[in-house]
Amino acid sequence: MIRSSTTEAVVLRKTRVGEIHKALTLFSRERGLISAIAHGAFKIKSRLRTTSEPFHLVRVYLYHDPVRDQYKITDMESLSALDGIRASVQRYYAASLWAEVVIRSYGGGENSSRLFQLLVDSLCLLNQAPKRLVTLLNCQYLLRFLEIVGQRPDVERCGLCASELDGLSGGYVSQEEQVLVCGRCASPTALHLPAGALRYLQRTLKTPLEAAVRVGLEGQSLEALTQATYFLVQAVLETNLNSLRSGVGIL
Ligand SMILES: [Zn+2]
Repeated sequence: MIRSSTTEAVVLRKTRVGEIHKALTLFSRERGLISAIAHGAFKIKSRLRTTSEPFHLVRVYLYHDPVRDQYKITDMESLSALDGIRASVQRYYAASLWAEVVIRSYGGGENSSRLFQLLVDSLCLLNQAPKRLVTLLNCQYLLRFLEIVGQRPDVERCGLCASELDGLSGGYVSQEEQVLVCGRCASPTALHLPAGALRYLQRTLKTPLEAAVRVGLEGQSLEALTQATYFLVQAVLETNLNSLRSGVGIL
């Protein structure tokens, strides 16, 4: 049995174990979510000290302890430090939200390698993103996550009557069905998605992420889109996200 292995991974979360150890939640390209202990990583002189911080992209070397059924990190190599994320509160909150979505969806289940690529691409863009772009990138990441897990609403046709959604009057998010619906099918509790936001979705969701975030969206539409996206993601994950509660007013 092979006890040592290596994989590319993003550090999603750290917690302190005892005085000096870190328990890390890693998202790996080949194996999805992994919990592993970085012994001594809180020590000033530890080789693992900086590479074990959240949102670092690393190559990690693991040893599996068969007795405790636990992964231990023997080494970590930095592939990209992504320091720009930890340098901005807004970027850090966005990355924390994305990490929580990965964890709560169990790494996207069978689609974890696609979700891994989306996370890495998004973090690399986030690393340098100005304030306004962070909000757009956040919506794009969350909607693309929904697509990967097979839960993104159709943005072209009403989810109830299948008529074409009108780019001049916008659409509605049904809170009961979690689909986009037309004005005739919308119940009074549906969230309105302004025309600008609907056209933005129709135009950007099929294009590569880097090109999609170059398309702008005016403030009110962006705000409505953000709220609709948060609603959909939390409905799909069947939970309220802690990062949204703690990030109120920042994201
Ligand atoms: Zn309809």
